[in-house]
Amino acid sequence: MSNVLTHYNYLHAIPEPGLQEFKTAAYLAAKLEAAGYAVTCHIGGATGIVGTYDSGLPGPVLGIRADMDALTHIIDGKTIQRHTCGHDAHCAMLLTAAEEIIAENSIKKGKLKIIFQPAEETGAGAKIMLEAGVIDDIDILLGMHIRPIQECRSGQIIEAMYYSSSCTIKAIIKGIPAHGARPHLGVNAIDGAIAAITAVNAIHMNPVVACSAKCTRFLCDSGVTNAIPERAAITFDIRAQYNDTMKELKEKVIRAIHAGAATVGATVESLEIPTELPAAELDPEITKILGDIIVESFGKEALCPPFTTPGGEDFFWYTSKLPHLKAGFTGLGVDAEPGLHHPDMHFDLSALENGVIIHKKSITKFLNEPCTD
Ligand SMILES: [Zn+2]
Ligand SMILES: [Zn+2]
Repeated sequence: MSNVLTHYNYLHAIPEPGLQEFKTAAYLAAKLEAAGYAVTCHIGGATGIVGTYDSGLPGPVLGIRADMDALTHIIDGKTIQRHTCGHDAHCAMLLTAAEEIIAENSIKKGKLKIIFQPAEETGAGAKIMLEAGVIDDIDILLGMHIRPIQECRSGQIIEAMYYSSSCTIKAIIKGIPAHGARPHLGVNAIDGAIAAITAVNAIHMNPVVACSAKCTRFLCDSGVTNAIPERAAITFDIRAQYNDTMKELKEKVIRAIHAGAATVGATVESLEIPTELPAAELDPEITKILGDIIVESFGKEALCPPFTTPGGEDFFWYTSKLPHLKAGFTGLGVDAEPGLHHPDMHFDLSALENGVIIHKKSITKFLNEPCTD
């Protein structure tokens, strides 16, 4: 038996939100150091950690990344942190593999970088790690996420997770205030916002490629109900399977917001994109290697084909900003129920051993065979 459950139980009991993973990071850093890694903490002034093991011999630089943050839920009126996306499991599996691979003296070439990234849920973490330059020298980067029961069963593993691109667009629609008795002297911001939403809903995209754009927040209150409101705030959630589809959809949404508001004489006072995640870019060769490792470890029935999800993952900032990276991302079947981000999310803990095995075999695959050149 490995240490995976010990690590998991410890991390599960100390859920911390993005950029506040202080206890989590301290635990992971101490364990990595004890295992023989050169550890860098507080990356980019935040909570990220990189543990490096250099074989001293030529070879590729392999990075494996796990995310550390928990989610904030409001349950029975109380704001609490809870690991409902399984990031505690991701850290526990990667730490266990990192410890075992050194204890077994399995690295014969190149360099291994164990990356514990903060703030995946807010989309900020990967960018901080990138800006600090700690990913620059990596050739192959691997990630893993536990999956809900609907996607893949415990004991099975998805060889490639194709996450979608997602972004949030916030706009302030500006009208002209007036007395409710004289609406002709004003421009109702609510009318402008509704026209903008209707224009967005009328966007047509190639139906062969999955994408969606919808209004998810509409706020307008001038404080009185007998006046024409001046401002309305609208927010759109936008998703697309591919990055070029997102580019097209985003342009159309922005144009529709402006044009829609203009139909009633309103204007767009401000428009911002506070969060954005690129779609998955995975290397087919790495996916093939991961598929072989899954079959070799657990048999053919365990291998699930590539899976496309409208969900986002900030891991793909790495491939988006560093196109030389060859990336692989597996989905670990753990029977997570009722679903990720559900306050009562729970899963089959015994499946975590499978994640440890995949990580270890990946490290062995890329950093074990001695260099001949
Ligand atoms: Zn999540
Ligand atoms: Zn997650």
